[in-house]
Amino acid sequence: SDKSLIVSFGEMLIDFVPTVSGVSLAEAPGFLKAPGGAPANVAIAVSRLGSKASFIGKLGDDEFGHMLADILKQNGVSGDGILFDQGARTALAFVTLRADGEREFMFYRNPSADMLLTPEELNLDLIRSVRSCMICLCSLAYGSNDWPTYLTTLHDAKVFHYGSISLIVEPCRSAHLKAMEVAKESGALLSYDPNLRLPLWPSADEARKQILSIWDKADIIKVSDVELEFLTGSNKIDDETAMKLWRPNLTLLLITLGEKGSMYYTKYFHGSVDAFHVNTVDTTGAGDSFVGALLCKIVEDPTILENESKLREVLKFANACGAITTTKKGAIPALPTEAEVLALING
Ligand code: ADP
Repeated sequence: SDKSLIVSFGEMLIDFVPTVSGVSLAEAPGFLKAPGGAPANVAIAVSRLGSKASFIGKLGDDEFGHMLADILKQNGVSGDGILFDQGARTALAFVTLRADGEREFMFYRNPSADMLLTPEELNLDLIRSVRSCMICLCSLAYGSNDWPTYLTTLHDAKVFHYGSISLIVEPCRSAHLKAMEVAKESGALLSYDPNLRLPLWPSADEARKQILSIWDKADIIKVSDVELEFLTGSNKIDDETAMKLWRPNLTLLLITLGEKGSMYYTKYFHGSVDAFHVNTVDTTGAGDSFVGALLCKIVEDPTILENESKLREVLKFANACGAITTTKKGAIPALPTEAEVLALING
């Protein structure tokens, strides 16, 4: 079949990454252009592992938008769900690489095209036609203290003010929710990754509420250790903390722990799977690679979700994908093929 197995949904943008660490944006001697955005990373991860993927999202009808559309195409991801906005420009992110290795982002969202996707513009036939459709959704809330005020008047934006800080719940939120609803009606499993970007202070409570509002709609949820702490308020990574994020509608809850591997929770069993030891250069995209690998395997064999030894095998595979993704700079260039993953697993 030429139908997509997995549809990812949301932003695709270009990260401008300074060529040196530990300097401010103004002092950066130069930038590398790194295409990214979690949903696009997941779609390409899936495609590189040999499954069919589509991406639904909006790009600017500009040089960067067409560059991103070409990257999807070159990587075998269907572009049927891509729209080009005639007014707004493609989203850009300027990354500061702090000396301690952490990354901070400044966004060009003025507004950017990805924020303007409306429910009416969604390609519903594409969403309905996917064979084992899964939608990977990402952040629904962005916090910032420097939004231009006119952004807050967009058709769909929900804005919360905290002194000089505003939290905007992503204007394309209703498109996200509509896509989820249609996919669910068509029998798809929904995978959600909150893709939190700190700092969200002092509007953290509202961000938490917005993120958790998806919990009852999703089938599979993946959070990082940072998100686990943000959402539960506990910095202890254990079963008790993880269970605060469990809901009866969930099929699978995953917590990724970087070099410590991943934890899994289902109705029937829970446990953890160790990470692989690799020479890590840049962790960008590790979580997206992990999710892409997991979804590919579930689409091939949904009984994985009810069989612990099968699930552990799949998580080992997904951990290997994540690990390989950290061994090269950037997300998309580092996403592995199945042969590379098997080579790491079989040592
Ligand atoms: P996120 O990118 O969402 O924060 P993680 O960094 O936890 O997610 O990465 C997802 C998975 O990739 C981890 O569960 C782990 O298996 C693998 N991984 C990430 N970082 C490393 C690392 N430094 N060494 C080995 N494996 C890693």
